Amino acid sequence: MTDLTDLGVAAIRAGVANGDFSATEVAGAFNTAVADAQPALNAFITLTPDKALEAAAAVDADRAAGKALGKMAGVPIGMKDLFATTGTKTTAASQILGNFVPPYESTVSQKLWDAGAGMLGKLNLDQFAMGSSNETSAFGNVISPWRREGDTAQLAPGGSSGGSSAAVSARIAPAATGTDTGGSIRQPAAFTGISGIKPTYGRCSRWGIVAFASSLDQAGPMARDVRDCAIMLEAMAGFDPKDSTSLDLPVPEWEANLNADLRGKKVGIPREYRMDGMDADVARAWDEGIAWLKDAGAEIVDINLAHTKYALPAYYIIAPAEASSNLARYDGVRYGLRDLPQGAGLQDMYAATRAAGFGAEVKRRILMGTYVLSAGFYDAYYTQAQKVRTLISRDFMDAFQTVDVILAPTAPTAAFGLGEMVSDPLAMYLNDVFAVPASLAGLPAMSVPAGLDRQGLPLGLQLIGRPFDEQGVLDAGLAIEARAGFTARPAKWW
Ligand code: GLN
Repeated sequence: MTDLTDLGVAAIRAGVANGDFSATEVAGAFNTAVADAQPALNAFITLTPDKALEAAAAVDADRAAGKALGKMAGVPIGMKDLFATTGTKTTAASQILGNFVPPYESTVSQKLWDAGAGMLGKLNLDQFAMGSSNETSAFGNVISPWRREGDTAQLAPGGSSGGSSAAVSARIAPAATGTDTGGSIRQPAAFTGISGIKPTYGRCSRWGIVAFASSLDQAGPMARDVRDCAIMLEAMAGFDPKDSTSLDLPVPEWEANLNADLRGKKVGIPREYRMDGMDADVARAWDEGIAWLKDAGAEIVDINLAHTKYALPAYYIIAPAEASSNLARYDGVRYGLRDLPQGAGLQDMYAATRAAGFGAEVKRRILMGTYVLSAGFYDAYYTQAQKVRTLISRDFMDAFQTVDVILAPTAPTAAFGLGEMVSDPLAMYLNDVFAVPASLAGLPAMSVPAGLDRQGLPLGLQLIGRPFDEQGVLDAGLAIEARAGFTARPAKWW
């Protein structure tokens, strides 16, 4: 029999439905693979093998009873540890939530369980999803399964959804959830040779997801290919009255409508993304992507996104500002860590709890956010950044008058080594340069694997679409996937 862990979402769902294997066998195979890889990769914070088996048994029983099976029936997945899961620890990779066991389930995870998925465990991430390498986790960083050719140096799996990207690329989970505030689905997908889509802001409910920057946070799937992403996104998306920014729109049939024929479509290539001193391999991958989309029938059009260079500074004002407000709730009073020094008063307890519970990067964001929102600086920073955000959205809307989808690199480089960037926060923030404009504009954006660089590491290409046009993004992604022929996978060294 084929190794079940070689299968993705569509193949598992089909195999379970046809009776080629049981959901219980699939869950067992992935549980074993997870346990086997955990000491080396540290992709999970909490393992939940029983949850995976329980969900699988329910699917097998439904099938035996002739009941209709859900979109994700029999597929065990990894859940980023930012989604609240009833009765299972939800830490956001922070000590401040180190022992937090939510009494409620996030909307997105509930939808996935309702669709027949099971949970292998809670995936590691950057603390509160702040970071690009997983090095800000309070539970040790994730190690990428990838290595440079002829080198055993440990590499970053990207961030913040680095547990998700490592698990899917190491084939210890067929798919995983991610969240993307400023690139956290797309950059880790690019670093590990997998696919991931951030849908239009509002498609997936934020209810029960630990908040980072509420006007930017979006959940999305990370999986081995475009079809698997389409299937899983259908299961995750949908209107939720519990999230006031949720889109009240029906969920399209993205999977059934997948179409890699791009005749009649126009693809925009933003001039401003071709930066001086751009990595030669990234530039080459981008050129190849342009050729592939042309081959798929698309017309290529150069476009301007004039305010691109202001996107990163605006993001690093808006996201910390919102974070400083969202994270004010971690005060040691209602839940999470409480540090109460002897004889201390309320203020001391707040201070001690927050000093002990938050990591250095989270503290940096809270400080920056508090500063840009303070009375004397609000207009100079926060109001300005909001204006820039509007200009960036307008650039995209102007471009989408002419083009249907935009093609750009996902990240400026392939994966870097652990420890190479932690001491330089600005260099780390630069990782997000191609990802944050689409986040600020709330647009659907996806990363698909394009090939390997000269060190043998994966590179990703990014597709950015009109609001609500996940289909256009997925279709262009599929056209690239069909031509890139990306079959590389990390050697199993763990
Ligand atoms: N790397 C970015 C940051 O640190 C994006 C994080 C994210 O999308 N959650 O803010």
